[in-house]
Amino acid sequence: MPTFTPCGFTPPRLESALTRGNSVTPPHHNGGMTQQFTTDQSDTGQASEPPGRAPGRYKRKGLTLADLFDLFPSDAAADEWFIAQRWPGGARCPRCGSDNVLDGTSHRTMRFRCRPCNRFFSTKSGSLMEGSKIGYREWALAIYLVTTSPKGVSSMKLHRDLGVTQRTAWFMLHRIRDAWTQRQGELFEGPVEVDETFIGGRAKNMRYPRRKRVIKGTGGVGSGKVTVIGIKDRATGRVVARPVASTSRADLVAVIEETVKPEASVFTDENSSYRRLYMNYRHRSVVHSGHVYVKGDVHVNTIESCWSLFKRGYHGTYHHMSPKHLQRYVDEFVGRHNCRPLDTRDQMGLVVEGMVGKRLTYETGRPSPLAPRGRLRRVTLSSG
Ligand SMILES: [Zn+2]
Repeated sequence: MPTFTPCGFTPPRLESALTRGNSVTPPHHNGGMTQQFTTDQSDTGQASEPPGRAPGRYKRKGLTLADLFDLFPSDAAADEWFIAQRWPGGARCPRCGSDNVLDGTSHRTMRFRCRPCNRFFSTKSGSLMEGSKIGYREWALAIYLVTTSPKGVSSMKLHRDLGVTQRTAWFMLHRIRDAWTQRQGELFEGPVEVDETFIGGRAKNMRYPRRKRVIKGTGGVGSGKVTVIGIKDRATGRVVARPVASTSRADLVAVIEETVKPEASVFTDENSSYRRLYMNYRHRSVVHSGHVYVKGDVHVNTIESCWSLFKRGYHGTYHHMSPKHLQRYVDEFVGRHNCRPLDTRDQMGLVVEGMVGKRLTYETGRPSPLAPRGRLRRVTLSSG
């Protein structure tokens, strides 16, 4: 039976959520474990973890569909939920931060008014939901679906589930992904596993003009595809991943140096781009081409299991990820991975928190947002 390794991933606000969630919630989700395991734990009441310790993927509390209907019976209830996630101490002006706020204005959509600014605002203002006519309940359901689907949700599925157009669903999904933007946090202390994967179609499926354009040289591994590098910190269980321009040493090592503390242990495969890592890190590698996958604690198996889920999402749900939006898809899978230890409610709260202080709009060159044909443009608000 696998044992849970505590994960050090604790975004500031959720440190308390983790503690709160653990002490009161019996194990709920058996995550593929035997029934015996969960029954023993809940019946004997021995599930309590030391304070602050993550509940782990096998013990986190899910949210059933019945719970979901109870939680969001109406749009107003969903609005209250968003307010509680965004402003636990009561509504604050997204512009000046004041809590001198009137709740219950006569405005049709803006229920708050900031007295110092004399401006109306709603729960959506100053977040990725700003400017959206989609109701709070639909947003909450979309966040639930994306959070609880390990392989992602397609825009066609969301379009049918929510009763919005596919284009609206696609835009909603990109905004939710944007909430998971990977922030520069503390450098990983290691040991870390580093591996890269390739996203894109196979050369044999390409039309000849495209194949001629994108396949260079002998068309080896990853040719014509986009490289994504992933780094997993074994100490905290956190992953950082991003698309890079090439598999060259400069591109790959630059990401490692931005993410991992010097002198940390770094485990990779035999890719020659990693050869010079020994200059700044304790670098060890396994030679996959020689069928060596594990040498003591030197392996890249856990980052490869992240790629495995990412690839299942790519092939099974999305079928295509354009290089232009690839970072957002990577953020989605990494975001879900990094909040795995949390209960579903806390995971959803984390998404709402990530939505604040950002905006994503279409750059159409035309004033009307109703003609979303242009490029997605990220606008980060200063009021955060
Ligand atoms: Zn204000």
